[in-house]
Amino acid sequence: MQSVGVIGAGQMGSGIAQTAASFGHKVWLADVSVELAEKAKAKIGKGLERLVSKEKITAQAAEATLANIVPVGEYAPFAEAGFIIEAATEREDIKAKIFEVAGKVLGADAILASNTSSIPITRMARGTVDPARFIGLHFFNPVPVMQLIEIIPGLATSADTITRTQDFARGLGKTLVMSQDEPGFIVNRILMPILNEAVFTLGAGTANVVDIDTAARLGLNHPMGPLELADFIGLDTCLEITKILLNSTGDSKYRPAPLLAKYVEAGWLGRKTGRGFYDYSGETPVPTR
Ligand code: NAD
Repeated sequence: MQSVGVIGAGQMGSGIAQTAASFGHKVWLADVSVELAEKAKAKIGKGLERLVSKEKITAQAAEATLANIVPVGEYAPFAEAGFIIEAATEREDIKAKIFEVAGKVLGADAILASNTSSIPITRMARGTVDPARFIGLHFFNPVPVMQLIEIIPGLATSADTITRTQDFARGLGKTLVMSQDEPGFIVNRILMPILNEAVFTLGAGTANVVDIDTAARLGLNHPMGPLELADFIGLDTCLEITKILLNSTGDSKYRPAPLLAKYVEAGWLGRKTGRGFYDYSGETPVPTR
């Protein structure tokens, strides 16, 4: 067991913290303030309580997991961590600043990993204290449930960092795939054009939200419809990933659907804000178009 630092306590950072803590790691959890990290821990606690009431885990396991998570308001405790995992908002400027500050406390052997969905690892590595110990470690949402982790070494990532990251990820009970540091890695290169095209289809008035999602679920045998999934990921995150795919390939097939950008401008970011292509304020999601 080692101690792990998680930076960004949103849906992904919380999921990573919960998963690492459930495997016995001590987790330092940071966000822009200690209050936000504490709020995230409280939310993780509620989720664990639900799992206990459904008899998926024992009350002791929930208690032990929660006790392993320590919200922090500064990075100093991360000096002890073997792994620091950045899971903040999908914006390169935000992540660059985090790497600069976290680099000051990174232990001599510690690995700095980013959960970015699409920002090039090799490029971000240049702003880190030791590019040989920087790597992409891409979890999926919800982290405690989703089996996959993509591992993305940058050009400068050392063989030792890759091996230790693989061991760490396997130790969380996950299945690993290795991807070259290419736009969108594997999953988002395939997924984002599907989600974006679904928003184009909606914007063109070809079909409504429910029919698009039903078509994908029953016609493509996807477990979730693309609009439902985009809401689940976060429409801001989908838009950022699509822009990165467009900018890094120059291929116009990745241009973001105008309606996706409009929803983000409106602050309708999906489940996390209570409204996206569905309205989540009631018991069951209600389509908005
Ligand atoms: P989110 O909006 O739920 O959470 C982002 C968190 O980062 C927020 O709590 C925010 O306060 C925090 N943050 C912003 N600036 C920060 C800073 N300077 N220091 C510390 N924390 C800061 O987003 P998310 O869905 O959790 O995504 C986080 C990362 O994970 C992104 O890079 C995203 O691309 C990636 N990712 C997302 C998914 C998904 O399905 N949502 C899947 C895999 C990877």
